[in-house]
Amino acid sequence: MSVLVVNSGSSSVKFQLVDPVSGESLASGLVEQIGESEGRVVLEYGGSEIENRREIPDHGVGLAVAFEMLEASGVELRSEVTAVGHRVVHGGEVFYRPTLIDDDVLQQISDLSALAPLHNPPNVLGIEVAREQLPDVSHVAVFDTAFFHGLPAAAATYAIDRDVAKAHGIRRYGFHGTSHEYVSQQVTRFLGREGLNQIVLHLGNGASASAIRSGVPIDTSMGLTPLEGLVMGTRSGDIDPGVVMHLKRSAGMDVDAIDQLLNRASGLKGLAGVNDFRVLGRNIENGDADAKLAYDVYIHRLRKYIGSYMVLLGRLDTITFTAGVGENAAGVRADALANLEGFGIEVDAERNAVRSREPRIVSTDASTVTVLVVPTNEELAIAQATEQVTL
Ligand code: ADP
Repeated sequence: MSVLVVNSGSSSVKFQLVDPVSGESLASGLVEQIGESEGRVVLEYGGSEIENRREIPDHGVGLAVAFEMLEASGVELRSEVTAVGHRVVHGGEVFYRPTLIDDDVLQQISDLSALAPLHNPPNVLGIEVAREQLPDVSHVAVFDTAFFHGLPAAAATYAIDRDVAKAHGIRRYGFHGTSHEYVSQQVTRFLGREGLNQIVLHLGNGASASAIRSGVPIDTSMGLTPLEGLVMGTRSGDIDPGVVMHLKRSAGMDVDAIDQLLNRASGLKGLAGVNDFRVLGRNIENGDADAKLAYDVYIHRLRKYIGSYMVLLGRLDTITFTAGVGENAAGVRADALANLEGFGIEVDAERNAVRSREPRIVSTDASTVTVLVVPTNEELAIAQATEQVTL
């Protein structure tokens, strides 16, 4: 018995078959280049990888091909899958817990597209096609914003005209919530200590930070959309909104062009031409000055958030790195926390250099703040949440 987790993006669908009890991933895959002349479906099952290249005109065909490949590999989807969990990016003010999907819920998720035009429409499409393919099981939406729903008003509120904000749902929602919640719970379990004051740094292609007091988030770096906060692979993160007006007035860019610039062509990519951290690192080694500046801007922003969250929390117990960059880039961890011994934060060079898929401590024994690396697992968290709803 397993839960199928579906994460549907604009031109790709990621899926994973998860045993929510053991946490084991039974199969996983990716459909990408949907809508291009040649698409690609990759399936990992039983230790081997199968690839299928063909035209995939839409998400429906993509999922159908993926399901055929799963069944051809021996997975009896229709009898083995007990429920489908869908990652949905924006739950707005409406959804703040995992929700059983019916036609009404699907319509409401679709209505929230104004808040997340890049994310919710492909999520809706993924739900529609998965419901067609697997009509006899429950489908559950798990929202990226849910964990941050109860942010204190002072953290959730933008200082703009309150009537305008109210009329248009403008507030800070926060994203990557499934990961921040999962990782902070793992830290509590791993250390065997309750009541921790935590900073969690989710550094992937998208990146966000959160400050969590006893399991309850008190601030996070993403806002109305995932654009706010840290420097990311292709997103600018924090920027003076005056830049937007300036681009409109002086560069003649329309809103879609500015959206594209700030979401897809900024961050590391905008500064250094690459958004993959591994390539960035190689380019720095080869003396690329743009890559070095991009890295410095990235670390500078990260340190600003760490500092501000230390003050908000008052007492800090743990700082945890997660996601692709956070889990793998030891240099980022060391640089983000360099010279903070005066604040009780000391990374141990040897521990920090260890590579592992397990949660681990990378600070010295003398460090009063425990620094950890904890691999995130959003698919497992979604599978478990899905199972809870359908029990
Ligand atoms: P997302 O889920 O947001 O697409 P991930 O959490 O998978 O992102 O992280 C992707 C990022 O992790 C990429 O920038 C990639 O370069 C980086 N990354 C992956 N492995 C390593 C590594 N060994 N060293 C440095 N960065 C890495």
